[in-house]
Amino acid sequence: HQEFIGREAVVAKRGEYFYPCTVHFYRDSPQLVRGSMQFVYDEKGKRYTDFFAGVSVVACGHCNPAITSRTIEQLQQLQHTTTIYLTQPAVDLAERLAEVLPGSMCRTFFVNSGSEANEGALLLARMHTGRQGFLALESGLHGRTNLTMSVTGLPMWRTDRYLAEEVSFIERPYHPELSLDDAATRSLESLKRVLEQKGHSFAAMIVEPIQGNGGMIMPVSWYFRELKALLDEHGVLLIADEIQTGFGRTGAMFAMEHFGVVPDIISMAKALGNGVPVAAFATTDDIALSLNRPSASTFGGNPVSAATALAVLDYIRDERLPERSAELGQRLQAGLLALQERYPELIADVRGTGLMLGAELSGEDAAAAAGITDDILEEMKDRGYLIGKNGVGRNVLAFQPPLIITAGDIDGMIAVLDEVLLQVRNRK
Ligand code: PMP
Repeated sequence: HQEFIGREAVVAKRGEYFYPCTVHFYRDSPQLVRGSMQFVYDEKGKRYTDFFAGVSVVACGHCNPAITSRTIEQLQQLQHTTTIYLTQPAVDLAERLAEVLPGSMCRTFFVNSGSEANEGALLLARMHTGRQGFLALESGLHGRTNLTMSVTGLPMWRTDRYLAEEVSFIERPYHPELSLDDAATRSLESLKRVLEQKGHSFAAMIVEPIQGNGGMIMPVSWYFRELKALLDEHGVLLIADEIQTGFGRTGAMFAMEHFGVVPDIISMAKALGNGVPVAAFATTDDIALSLNRPSASTFGGNPVSAATALAVLDYIRDERLPERSAELGQRLQAGLLALQERYPELIADVRGTGLMLGAELSGEDAAAAAGITDDILEEMKDRGYLIGKNGVGRNVLAFQPPLIITAGDIDGMIAVLDEVLLQVRNRK
């Protein structure tokens, strides 16, 4: 059994043995040792209500017994073989995914992480179209492998050299000084220009339906319909990166449903395993045929991950989590909008949908806004609430709680955030 060495010792070991690039999210990060549904606990027993869910991962709650019992059962029965033998959990999972995936998507390839799912999706698009290039949106985030980092627009998550060169970035459908309609029109015009120049060179465009790390950027409802039509005209596939938005997070099973668009390929990860690594990319019969080389993943579709994901899908269905997310999301959004009305000089914008919401903070300049965001994050943590931050300027508070969060938790968090914002205002 584990003996806790204390958070200072963990910080020291991290500093000594991790790569120096390791990101510190908090100035003073808590050490978490236990989780139970919407709560996590540090080594001193202090309880935090989790409004970030490890960036949308733990949608069904921490250590949810309905899920962990099935993980443990599978762990004790058969842990791993290779794909050369038959095992049932992975085929059951692929069948269940085909039931919830949109359109005629019915083929799933299992991998282990979001980056790997996108990497597979991008290669599949190349093999299907025989083209090399990619389109992506500014401020999108798609992963940490070479190709997925190459299509990542967010400067913070890119290296400035060594990346694939055949990527064209399109203006994002959001601009602080424009309406969502005008920003979408501008984005599509920039897409049209690039397609007219070299549309034949692109295999796919990869997009997050709602950008997570980019700052909860949700385009106007008609945006992706027009975007898909433009791509179709030029034979360019659409890859929806639903890694952060999938499995009920936004009030629908997949966020592309809000836009009435069926993409050609969907990548998924995070919430599918509720904390256990499992990821996949899915597509149609026709496109799947193009991955015509023997391809197998050591851990992709392993029985433990697959059994866990099956339990997750059962739980999402039985507890009607997408509906719950839509309903509670409205409550949380109303709470944030009320705070925006009370603190218009601090909260510039509230956006997102379902339980994927962001509040953009303003300050005298970008650095001040990012500083205020950190102050609030830190203060909320000290008062027992974990929230997130994202955005190009790291000045957007992110609210992505487990979907099993309660109305009471939301009201409690909003009340505490109100106190914290008041404190920030008085300090100014
Ligand atoms: N796509 C999106 C939209 C993500 O949010 C992330 C992770 N933040 C990734 C891809 C990469 O996933 P992973 O860290 O599992 O490789």
